[in-house]
Amino acid sequence: MAPDPQGFLRHARIDPPKRPVVERVRDFQPIYLTPRPDVVAEQAGRCMDCGVAFCHAGCPLGNLIPEWNEFVAADEPADWAAASERLHATNNFPEFTGWICPAPCEAACVLAINDDPVTIKQVELSIVERAFRDGEVAPRPAPAPSGRRVAVVGSGPAGLAAAQQLTRSGHEVTVFERDDRVGGLLRYGIPDFKMPKDILDRRVAQLSAEGTTFLVNTNVEASDVQRLRSEFDAVVLAVGALRPRELSQPGRSFAGIHQAMEYLPWGNRASAGDIEQSPIDANGKHVVIIGGGDTAADCLGTANRQGAASVTVVDHNLAPVPRANLVNPVWPAAPASRGTSPAHDEGVHEAWSQEVVEFLPNMNGAVRAVVVEQVEIVRVDGIREFRPLVESRVELPADLVLLAAGFIGSDSPELLAALGVASRPDGRVATDERWQTKVAGVFACGDVSRGASLVVWAIAEGRACAAAVDRTLTGTTELPAPVRPGMRPL
Ligand SMILES: Cc1cc2nc3c(=O)[nH]c(=O)nc-3n(C[C@H](O)[C@H](O)[C@H](O)COP(=O)(O)OP(=O)(O)OC[C@H]3O[C@@H](n4cnc5c(N)ncnc54)[C@H](O)[C@@H]3O)c2cc1C
Ligand code: SF4
Repeated sequence: MAPDPQGFLRHARIDPPKRPVVERVRDFQPIYLTPRPDVVAEQAGRCMDCGVAFCHAGCPLGNLIPEWNEFVAADEPADWAAASERLHATNNFPEFTGWICPAPCEAACVLAINDDPVTIKQVELSIVERAFRDGEVAPRPAPAPSGRRVAVVGSGPAGLAAAQQLTRSGHEVTVFERDDRVGGLLRYGIPDFKMPKDILDRRVAQLSAEGTTFLVNTNVEASDVQRLRSEFDAVVLAVGALRPRELSQPGRSFAGIHQAMEYLPWGNRASAGDIEQSPIDANGKHVVIIGGGDTAADCLGTANRQGAASVTVVDHNLAPVPRANLVNPVWPAAPASRGTSPAHDEGVHEAWSQEVVEFLPNMNGAVRAVVVEQVEIVRVDGIREFRPLVESRVELPADLVLLAAGFIGSDSPELLAALGVASRPDGRVATDERWQTKVAGVFACGDVSRGASLVVWAIAEGRACAAAVDRTLTGTTELPAPVRPGMRPL
């Protein structure tokens, strides 16, 4: 029962505070500041504890949102420890989602029908941060070993969630990661200003203390398949969807044109202190980013922090319709979030409904401009086509071009072929209803089977896949399965 059923009438939504733009673009420290606990409690008190809490359905993890809101909003005293217990009951890593989830739960919040939704994501982050501060996030080793061994390939959020669930069930889990650090896209895709990396290290320490083994700098290759299959009772593929969509326009091969995931990891390595300066640096350059999603926003924020002379984001989609407030016009589905990240408040030229025609070189063979033309979207037999408008071509000056046009499946096709797992035409690894590929004992979850998606889905799939692996190995399971393969958002 909500401590104050009229909390939403008494209190307006207060978003978490951000650092001023002029200050934050000078470093890679987090954009968001920590709100005061009394403000978080007041915001949690806006929760109506609805009879049918649609936020549950909006969150792929099925987070028990009204339950933890109630503990945080309780008059005297707020029970943060109980809130943390409820939060961790459904989410292995609420700090990852608390930092970067686009919060489809908030879109589905009943308040969002005609008012601003509860700040669910911020309450989530506040609960878990406090739990770490108070030493309540302790390792939870399994009561007894099962004698079964599981290999998890890939240490992004899907692999980490599967590994933690399986280790806690008593299986001996080894996570193989080709990068030098654990975390997948959380580590080397998402910049520090969006999510600081010490929160990853803190969680990995918990997993290690529970008994999960991590082998970094270990690329699992086709030649390793035989050993992998003989040494482990099950294999979980959580290798992500890191193969970038390519552009075929003339001039693509000029120097100065890079895929986003060639650019972003260097920025994160510089933030980690591994290198002095990124070898692909935007300082003083005119930057053109192609694509308008999360990846483009992260390139935009990084380029501005490196001191770009200008940044233009080109996208062939229509400009998003600005919303006057957070009232959700498509409740309970999540409205489009393209082009609406805090990075867009830091300086950007937006070029919506523009398609790339070609890249132009300077005398040294490096890119100097991107030619774009305006397009209109028409539907032919239900399929979108981008039709150019006549005489609409313009040249955008560009010393650095970043391609952020999406991802199309795993970049480890040889491994998948050697394992014998099948891919769908769009590059996703196919699984059955129990997360198993067509090869017995080989499972897949996260972006590699779902297609490029979100951290919350990766964690949910990792949890569900772990339940399926546990059942296969032991004949039964008590692990939760919050989602089914291929399940769509609301
Ligand atoms: C730039 C960018 C920004 C994003 N921003 C957001 C955001 O704000 N919010 C959000 O919710 N989602 C965001 N996403 C999406 C989110 O990061 C992914 O959906 C999520 O990380 C997928 O998790 P995963 O575990 O399936 O794969 P990944 O995180 O991609 O991890 C896969 C791991 O497998 C490893 N690997 C691959 N092949 C092998 C091999 N053969 N041997 C060993 N290791 C291997 C890789 O090195 C990698 O570490 C973003 C994505 C990108 C690219
Ligand atoms: S994980 Fe995402 S969708 Fe779920 S409660 Fe947290 S912010 Fe909302």
